[in-house]
Amino acid sequence: MVKILIIYTGGTIGMINDTKTGALIPFDFEQIEQNVPELSRLNYQLSVHSFSPILDSSNMNPEIWAELALLITDKYDSFDGFVVLHGSDTMAFTASALSFMLQNLAKPIILTGSQLPIGEIRTDAKENLITALEIAATKINGKAQVPEVCIYFDYQLFRGNRAIKYNSEKFEAFQSPNYPILAEAGVHLNFFSNYILPSSIESLKTHINFNSNIGVLKMYPGISKQAVQAVMKSEVDAIILETFGAGNTSTTAWFLQELKDAAQHKIIVNISQCKAGSVQLGLYETSKELQRMGVISGYDMTFEAAVTKLMYLMGLGISVNEIKKLMEISICGELTSF
Ligand code: ASP
Repeated sequence: MVKILIIYTGGTIGMINDTKTGALIPFDFEQIEQNVPELSRLNYQLSVHSFSPILDSSNMNPEIWAELALLITDKYDSFDGFVVLHGSDTMAFTASALSFMLQNLAKPIILTGSQLPIGEIRTDAKENLITALEIAATKINGKAQVPEVCIYFDYQLFRGNRAIKYNSEKFEAFQSPNYPILAEAGVHLNFFSNYILPSSIESLKTHINFNSNIGVLKMYPGISKQAVQAVMKSEVDAIILETFGAGNTSTTAWFLQELKDAAQHKIIVNISQCKAGSVQLGLYETSKELQRMGVISGYDMTFEAAVTKLMYLMGLGISVNEIKKLMEISICGELTSF
């Protein structure tokens, strides 16, 4: 019988209304089990590990990602797949982080959650949970069908480090603007194998040392010198510059000078504010100068993937040049370079 480990970290899926404040608060896994009697009808051997405390995913951080990665590593040989129940707010960050923390995967790690608590009549939680389990259990020729870190939500399976939460209201909460979906659940569960990473033959490698000393500067017309300096002159080791369109910034002299000074001793990664498409450094004159300064391209990475990839690379203890080189290369399907 296929063995799946459900890891419950928290999120709306298991929340109930606090009778005093009316706000949603996380509740334990029994709440979920009681509401999905179908779980006992699935032909899988299910085990559950609950995090303590149960979290709203806004409180996720690299230490908890490490706890999650170590738990999966510890149980890796005993299970065929893993389903991680997680709040949708930061699910794309956790999925991206896990894709860098757990390399050489041969088993599925499927994150899911819901927009409505599992106890609500119109909940989306049951479908998300049951299908996530089915995906985690699916094998082809004895091997996992999807040996990747993924997000399953509202009938679609996404590569975890390509997904973004884009809607806080609709059941269709996630999108993957720069990479096709990996599977779709309709009457049948259709897997799009061409887009799924192959199963690794090497043994699992776990990297939990993340360095989060990163700053972010989002460009907007009229940005002040003080706002730019606050990030550029801060003590961080790397900066993610969220640029316009295909990677452009203002070419005002003082702005370029601030950037140039910072680029001498910080890693600066250019990712676009556009959700779809890629940074193309040098395509316009407005980004040529950035290239000359040594700003590196994040290509079509999501913000979530860029942040967690930087944390991962900066935690490896490798040289700045090596970090810069690896930032521009796909490690686990997180970017398309040209
Ligand atoms: N605030 C919740 C969380 O991320 C929202 C959700 O689960 O969808 O934990």
